[in-house]
Amino acid sequence: MTTAARGGKKGPAEWNPFLRRSHSRPLRAPKLHNKQANAEKVLRLLQSPWPPARDGSDSSGCSGDAGRAGRAIGASLSDAIYAVGGPIMSGGFRSDRGDYLYYADIDSVGLQDVKSNGLSISRRSLQTILYSALPYGCVSYGRRFQSFTAPPSGQPGRVQVAFEDGGVEECDVLVGADGIRSKVREQLLGGPAELRYSGTVCWRGRLPLSRIGRGAQWLLQLINNDSWAEYWGKGIRFGFFTVGAEATPDEAAPGGIRIEGEPQVAWYAFANRPETWKTEPGADEAVRLREMFAGFSSPVPELLAAMDPSGVNVGKIFYQEPRPDPWGAGRVTLLGDAAHAMLPTLGQGGCMAIEDSLELANELGAAVAPGSGSAEAEAPSTSYDAAAVGRLEAALRRYEASRAPRTARVAEQSVQVAALAMAESDFAVWLRNTIYRLTPKWAGDKQFEYLFKLTP
Ligand SMILES: Cc1cc2nc3c(=O)[nH]c(=O)nc-3n(C[C@H](O)[C@H](O)[C@H](O)COP(=O)(O)OP(=O)(O)OC[C@H]3O[C@@H](n4cnc5c(N)ncnc54)[C@H](O)[C@@H]3O)c2cc1C
Repeated sequence: MTTAARGGKKGPAEWNPFLRRSHSRPLRAPKLHNKQANAEKVLRLLQSPWPPARDGSDSSGCSGDAGRAGRAIGASLSDAIYAVGGPIMSGGFRSDRGDYLYYADIDSVGLQDVKSNGLSISRRSLQTILYSALPYGCVSYGRRFQSFTAPPSGQPGRVQVAFEDGGVEECDVLVGADGIRSKVREQLLGGPAELRYSGTVCWRGRLPLSRIGRGAQWLLQLINNDSWAEYWGKGIRFGFFTVGAEATPDEAAPGGIRIEGEPQVAWYAFANRPETWKTEPGADEAVRLREMFAGFSSPVPELLAAMDPSGVNVGKIFYQEPRPDPWGAGRVTLLGDAAHAMLPTLGQGGCMAIEDSLELANELGAAVAPGSGSAEAEAPSTSYDAAAVGRLEAALRRYEASRAPRTARVAEQSVQVAALAMAESDFAVWLRNTIYRLTPKWAGDKQFEYLFKLTP
């Protein structure tokens, strides 16, 4: 489908509610926008002063199912997340000339309304909102995990977790959510997992919509119906998506949050590079990027011209081959990148971590729910009997078994799409673009349909 074929639909402000927000206003301010009604709900999340949000400039897209996972946590929390993030609407893969290779319009992949869709939100904002729903003091910062000691499978007792600061904590279940270079996984596997280099380097950053200058008009037209686009060239690609504003703690009202700043565009660029590639000391990455994408269709050069060179992150991309379940043992399991670090091609790594946590919470909740077994199960403690321990361990293995096939499928598809997106020779690029253009839209939609279908 072409841009023209989508004419006559709603304007950007209607599709993208965050475009209507004014800058730096409290979430609870009345009457500005119907999403402001959510402000009161946001305030009801507040149980405690705010923990410090961690720094991080990366932004994440959440697919519909990660979005649904969010709603299952609680309506107010979900409302807060949707009030801050930018909804994911239509978008597509394009050639470097700007014509569509694959177009995902909101009607074709089950995306009928804002809350059935996904949303894009910065990691910092998402964390800020999620922390708001936690009891005060339940998160401690700056402590590095070192090792764990767990009772043998099926045996009562607690898992002991040692930190680099010399402290030891006890818990009933240990969930290693410590990322692609997970130490918990290392101990489970008896050594570091093999990471594969993707052959690509990624640059990324964010910039306010208003900074795009003359390109902004083009961009606003583009996101009339779209919220994302990715342009495929020869061994390089460039993408961007609208990401909403930033949620920050409201200093004036402990526990409150504010939407700060104006709506942002998150951008990223990939290039094929050997693993030995290094950024040159003092090299201006902005100049490098502007040269690399100079021939791309608008608004790519405009976005790159407008970006803040000091805010560019650059890094090599690694991933893990999918591993079959079980990921864990006894009362220790893994979640997110620790279990299944995948290429970021489909923007799904964070989404999969969110889905993991919903599935894990469901399983553990059922294992300790009243009526699930012994009294100990109803009041978890160190005195688990063998039956209660058995239920917890079974819950962890069911969680791993249910998540492994889906995460492996997303990881494999991420590798396949990356191979196409990063094709380098003239012939491979011609073949790729021709096949994409000739592929019926329904067939293109079919390959991504499963991403939007999940019943936790
Ligand atoms: C370029 C790029 C773009 C991406 N884009 C998207 C996207 O658009 N959408 C999406 O959904 N995903 C995206 N991802 C993937 C996403 O970033 C990851 O999948 C996600 O962050 C995984 O979350 P996690 O919590 O499992 O791990 P992480 O986010 O890596 O978090 C792990 C945490 O554990 C901490 N930690 C590590 N070691 C220790 C230790 N020893 N002790 C204590 N703490 C420790 C770390 O400090 C960190 O806070 C992208 C990734 C990349 C590289």
